[in-house]
Amino acid sequence: MASPFPKSPDTHNPTAVELEKTPTSLPAQPSTLAGANRLELGQVLSQLGVPQKQLRMRTAQVWSWIYAHGTKSFEAMSDLNKDLRTTLTKAHSLERPKIVEELVSKDGTRKWLLRLQPMANEPQGPEIETVYIPEADRGTLCISSQVGCTLNCTFCHTGTQRLVRNLTSAEIVAQIMLARDRLGDWPEATSPDDERHLPSGDRKITNIVLMGMGEPFYNYDNVKTAMEIVSDGTGLSTSKRRITLSTSGVVPKIIPWGADTGTNLAISLHAVTDELRNELVPINRKYPIKDLLQACRDYPGLSNARRITFEYVMLDGINDSLSDARELVRLLRGIPAKINLIPFNPWPGSVHSCSSWPKIEKFAEIVNKAGYASPVRTPRGRDIFAACGQLKSSSQKRSASQRLAHQVP
Ligand code: SAH
Ligand code: SF4
Repeated sequence: MASPFPKSPDTHNPTAVELEKTPTSLPAQPSTLAGANRLELGQVLSQLGVPQKQLRMRTAQVWSWIYAHGTKSFEAMSDLNKDLRTTLTKAHSLERPKIVEELVSKDGTRKWLLRLQPMANEPQGPEIETVYIPEADRGTLCISSQVGCTLNCTFCHTGTQRLVRNLTSAEIVAQIMLARDRLGDWPEATSPDDERHLPSGDRKITNIVLMGMGEPFYNYDNVKTAMEIVSDGTGLSTSKRRITLSTSGVVPKIIPWGADTGTNLAISLHAVTDELRNELVPINRKYPIKDLLQACRDYPGLSNARRITFEYVMLDGINDSLSDARELVRLLRGIPAKINLIPFNPWPGSVHSCSSWPKIEKFAEIVNKAGYASPVRTPRGRDIFAACGQLKSSSQKRSASQRLAHQVP
């Protein structure tokens, strides 16, 4: 069947498989240690002359400054000797990605367009987006795992982006560090041996979702390392229970991910038949619904207290009929699940429109009656183009003066 959805003109070339095979090149300026893992920190300190028998202790000290306190200068690391602080300052930095643009929505949502350090083969660092969504009982940071995405879901802006590469684990972690900087979400600088963190009730970022740009399972190893750093209790200290990875359905990675990391899982389902899902979420041609749902049933640690979230974007006249709703409920029977109905967020050139509100309500009623609570997700940050699926680093397309006009002081 020919696709009913015309492709956006700038649909990109590399396939996911090609990207998976691409070796991660090294940054041209490997100077920043913001986002480094323990092993990398240990290697750096060893290269800078820290004796073997001190290495563990020094690594733990630097780690704590970087991740428990958010310290940005080696000079402030008062439990390191002066020489080491000077050597570190000469060789490295704790620089975050550059903020190209920071936008604040009228609903409090914030979006950062960030420029990464360039890799050796890049004339300039690519751009990614990170979004913060404050709610009454939580603050969620939505982070990116790739620049762009190799998959071409018909309703998603990110999928139309030409430039694609995997983020390094440090670049994934640095998004959280930068958001904490901007939100004032680090604890007060305390004495060096004080390992207290902000009590979790006081934190602004309480939850992290891998729902920004990219398919996290096509960057499995780096995302995994990043989540190890993020969940480390002596550093950024975000519990795995408060981290959610969203996938379009890379089936072979689902169970290993659960076993390796134990984070929450979200599945971008969006259709209840293979025929339609093949069109909307083309990875379905490789991994059909039956296999996807079987992997979900087998997800390690799944229980009624730890459910999988199924995301379902409401597309007018495409997937929003009442029989779709009934089939959705039937398909998910027996899987500890939450259902998130996401009103479609339009973007320039998108071929879909959002289902009408009465239609969404009727659909939600069927889902509700089947025992799923409050399934409709309120779009956040639409006015700053920060809602689900609207992310696309557009700096190539907007002039500097246009950007300045949107900048928040
Ligand atoms: N690549 C991953 C994670 C990023 S997308 C994935 O696809 O799951 C995060 C969520 O936003 C997914 O459920 C995605 O399908 C949804 N989404 C994408 N475009 C959207 C749009 N225009 N409106 C609403 N939701 C969208
Ligand atoms: Fe990629 Fe997810 Fe967008 Fe699909 S919905 S194109 S997998 S980011």
